[in-house]
Amino acid sequence: MGTNIRKVAQIITPTQVREGAGVLLKRSIGTQTLDYLDPFLLLDHFGSNDPADYLAGFPMHPHRGIETVTYMLAGKVSHHDSLGNAGTIGAGDVQWMTAGSGIMHEEMPEPFEGKMEGFQLWVNLPAKYKMTDPRYQDIRSGIIPELTLLNGVKIKVIAGQYGNTSGAVTVIYANPTYLDVTLQPGSGFNHEIPADHTAFAYLYRGQAFFSDATTPVEAPKLVVLKDGETVKVQAAAEEARCLLVSGLPLGEPIARYGPFVMNTRAEIELALQELRNGTFIKTRG
Ligand code: MN
Repeated sequence: MGTNIRKVAQIITPTQVREGAGVLLKRSIGTQTLDYLDPFLLLDHFGSNDPADYLAGFPMHPHRGIETVTYMLAGKVSHHDSLGNAGTIGAGDVQWMTAGSGIMHEEMPEPFEGKMEGFQLWVNLPAKYKMTDPRYQDIRSGIIPELTLLNGVKIKVIAGQYGNTSGAVTVIYANPTYLDVTLQPGSGFNHEIPADHTAFAYLYRGQAFFSDATTPVEAPKLVVLKDGETVKVQAAAEEARCLLVSGLPLGEPIARYGPFVMNTRAEIELALQELRNGTFIKTRG
């Protein structure tokens, strides 16, 4: 275990935004405060007790040049796309979609037993893979490893490694870590992630201490971590839950326009032109 604890670089309160056909979201990456945390372009936390905040969903829309990762805590999202995939993801399920050269899809949230909550993360693709064939990975809750540590901390390994346990999602360019961690009151968790990775925690329940801080962070917050090896988190007096995510930064220029993220304005213009003339989708199901 590396002894170099990652310090906190920035603590961000999510911004409330409406996206799609009017879905209320808490956005913490992809805002004026934090436009880009290379390789992460966007982090949305959706969910509400009021179905009017999400039922309009995300009608058919395109993506190019990125990967989108949807992780559900409660409720369902039904989807279908230009690759021919159709289905519903529910609590604990993950949809890891590589848009690559282009995909069109619809994402429609619906409650289950009155609840709906989840996250969508956008991961950038390097220039050499922006026009790769689109790919869709549907990862059911049952195949995502879940560990319980001796102190009761629970870790779902969605992507990356925890000890000898490998995540359910593989073969992703950014070599990401994506853990969902539940910390019992007062319990702590250390995790070593590659020193050259960008890393953040998204605290979505409770209060927790990050790094060697003596003041707890209160959910919901994005905690951006500095360089180093080991991430250190400790719950305050109640249960805390956070996502812990890392990925290899690309260090490339970005040009973003809504659901398209390329390297140059000319590539964005081309995507818009192809959308207009019907040549946007290169690979169909
Ligand atoms: Mn989408």
